[in-house]
Amino acid sequence: KSGFVTIIGRPNVGKSTLMNEVIGQKIAIMSDKPQTTRNKIQSIHTEDNFQMIFIDTPGITKPKHKLGDYMLKAARETLGEVDVILFVVDESLTIGAGDTYIIQELKDIKTPVILVINKIDKIDQEKFNYIYEKYEKMNIFSDIVGISALERANLQVLVDKIVDFL
Ligand code: GDP
Ligand code: MG
Repeated sequence: KSGFVTIIGRPNVGKSTLMNEVIGQKIAIMSDKPQTTRNKIQSIHTEDNFQMIFIDTPGITKPKHKLGDYMLKAARETLGEVDVILFVVDESLTIGAGDTYIIQELKDIKTPVILVINKIDKIDQEKFNYIYEKYEKMNIFSDIVGISALERANLQVLVDKIVDFL
């Protein structure tokens, strides 16, 4: 099995951390400042039975200037070209302009979308269930999984779900 996986979501939700922890190498630039990742970064994760090519995209925000516009385009153009989309959100339940924008785009795309709720180390089960239900109601995600990229919690569960779609 082999396929392309793209990671999208608002700046700072942990996209680069997720990719790095899965790949086990520090490829993407991680930072507290949003939008450190300016270009699509590809990396390949190979195991005995499958291979995943990850595309780490710049954070998606409602474009305010030319550079933002360019970054949004880079993220968006990968969506139709991949096998699985990981839409990463964090525990804050902030659904900003960038998220709304992306959710609209995802409705029109046939590629399976796994919603990844990251930073579950910061919340309890009750809040997780609340977030889970909120996204489940949107009816656009093929699967929903909670992880902590930083603490490597549930990463194998996520990888297994990705493999199911390859
Ligand atoms: P990106 O902009 O979406 O690529 O986000 P980054 O991967 O650069 O992460 C942004 C910040 O969130 C960094 O300070 C990370 O250390 C932190 N972070 C990422 N994943 C987690 C997590 O699972 N739990 C916690 N508590 N922090 C995280
Ligand atoms: Mg990043």
